Amino acid sequence: MLRELVIYGDERLQQVSEKIEKIDDEILALIDDMFETMYKERGVGLAAVQIGVLKRLIVISVPDFDDETKPDFKLALINPEIIWHGEEKEILEEGCLSFPEIRDDVARYKEIKVKYLDKEGNEQILEAEGYIAKVLQHEIDHTNGISFIDRLESYQKRRLKRELKELRNNTVRGIKKVQNREKLQNTNN
Ligand SMILES: [Zn+2]
Repeated sequence: MLRELVIYGDERLQQVSEKIEKIDDEILALIDDMFETMYKERGVGLAAVQIGVLKRLIVISVPDFDDETKPDFKLALINPEIIWHGEEKEILEEGCLSFPEIRDDVARYKEIKVKYLDKEGNEQILEAEGYIAKVLQHEIDHTNGISFIDRLESYQKRRLKRELKELRNNTVRGIKKVQNREKLQNTNN
């Protein structure tokens, strides 16, 4: 089932999600909904809070940019936790389904190890680097109430201030970005 995205301005994005104690049918259905919603919105990762469920659950589906014939690296991670990271950071541009049309560079650890439970409830450890590591850090941040804009330098935040304010105000007023875009086009004509 497709779910509606939580957009910046909704205070749930700043809340810490709860640990999942039991992997039941409700959680498995939630995982399906998250994949469906993420694919529809053309995202590479989604945290449960982004569809309004404050549970520590993320899904990712990351393409192999070196070999596009390979399938995406697709995974659901329950209670994910970064248990190790290397020293080196890498700067890459990020966007977020909860921040439509806003993108900026974010420094993330190049290599991480993530502990999580799989759908069967088994504890797993994933070693990730590069783009997958970046997506995982972005999504795990969401489970802790942190968005990518919280990771920006102050000059970047200043640069995005107007756009963010507009997005927040629209969300608070219940105005969707799409409607706003139509309005902008009308005023341009
Ligand atoms: Zn995000």
